[in-house]
Amino acid sequence: MYSIVEPELCEKGVTLENVLDSPEGKRILTCIQCGTCAGTCPYGEYMEYPPRRIINMLRRGHMDEVFKSDSILRCVACYACMAKCPRGIRLSDILLPLVKEQVLANLPEIPAELQKSLQNALRYGNPMGESSRKRANWVTTSKTPVKILANDPQPVDVLWFVECYTSYYGRGQDNSRATAKLFNALGIDFAILGNEEKCAGDCGQLTWETGLFETLTDYNMVVFKKYDFKRIVTGDAHAFNAFRIRYPMYGFDYKVEHTTPFFAQYLDRLKPKLKKPLNLTVTYHDACCLGRRANIYDEGRDLLKAIPGIKLVEMTHNRINSICCGGGGGGMWLDTFFKQKGMERLSERRIKEAIATGADVLAVSCPYEIYRFEDALKTIPHEKPMVVRDVVELLAESLGED
Ligand code: SF4
Ligand code: SF4
Repeated sequence: MYSIVEPELCEKGVTLENVLDSPEGKRILTCIQCGTCAGTCPYGEYMEYPPRRIINMLRRGHMDEVFKSDSILRCVACYACMAKCPRGIRLSDILLPLVKEQVLANLPEIPAELQKSLQNALRYGNPMGESSRKRANWVTTSKTPVKILANDPQPVDVLWFVECYTSYYGRGQDNSRATAKLFNALGIDFAILGNEEKCAGDCGQLTWETGLFETLTDYNMVVFKKYDFKRIVTGDAHAFNAFRIRYPMYGFDYKVEHTTPFFAQYLDRLKPKLKKPLNLTVTYHDACCLGRRANIYDEGRDLLKAIPGIKLVEMTHNRINSICCGGGGGGMWLDTFFKQKGMERLSERRIKEAIATGADVLAVSCPYEIYRFEDALKTIPHEKPMVVRDVVELLAESLGED
């Protein structure tokens, strides 16, 4: 299983000091100060210390000044700088979260929305502060069967990790019902953890709230070990990211897949079932955690093209150049902070590009994006109606069985 840091570093502790002493630290020092990272960063112009300047300060031994600035809170962990760095420095994976950790520790006050979500994740196991007893309530509204492992602890092929937004919020539950319908239509042997599931902790790991992330990781690992399954599938691009690149640091060695590439594998079986034409022009947004971070670009487009009546059009920035929705790295809970700093919301910047394509639908592959883009559509004027739908929702609709 792939891990972002070497096992020795895991043992020593992933601190800035230890990283600088590792091969990754040596790579950081090879920075050629080209400024590509700052230039490609969607919030680069608002940062006092974009990645290039952070490395410059690091070399000069002036990190105390960087840690005193709240500049790095503008980083939404979009992986654009890391994807373009000619030295292959893993900025968004390693250096930037470590800097963010120090900055948060030094801040007199953490922005209130972020503080609340992190506290909720610790206390309730989800950033919205909902009761864990309600986590699987959505199952009663699914028209297709969903097995909960605590009630029926038989071995299964797929453990479907539903995650928080898709468990609790009404709009996210549309995604969950659609996913259940697709699993059932394909005859996949699957089950969920139900009320035993807690947040995978991506918000914690990308703000490098290590204690919170480890608490959630330890909890989920214990629950995983209770059951017998072959692979984990999740529709949450952030949970996918956390399982794929952070959990292996804590002994996680399960195969993990995101629903978009998972269903794309079954395209031959799925396509004959997609009988209902949708007759829509659709543009697809590449989620940062799937696209730039995992090189998953074609699968969402292949699924959309398989739906009868869908015409796919591209936004100006697509694939590796996609513009982040602004929800990563804690950005989901920093809109008020960004507004106070006079920053444009990235979801609004992106929705303008989607509107410019003339599409009826902005298709996404991450539950965060539904909220961010539906909200942006309320504030950005547009003459032609546009809706935001997850790829799984469009597929489920084309199944046409209800
Ligand atoms: S893109 Fe990479 S090499 Fe260029 S300044 Fe940024 S960190 Fe340094
Ligand atoms: S990860 Fe994205 S937001 Fe953060 S510094 Fe890099 S380009 Fe900017």
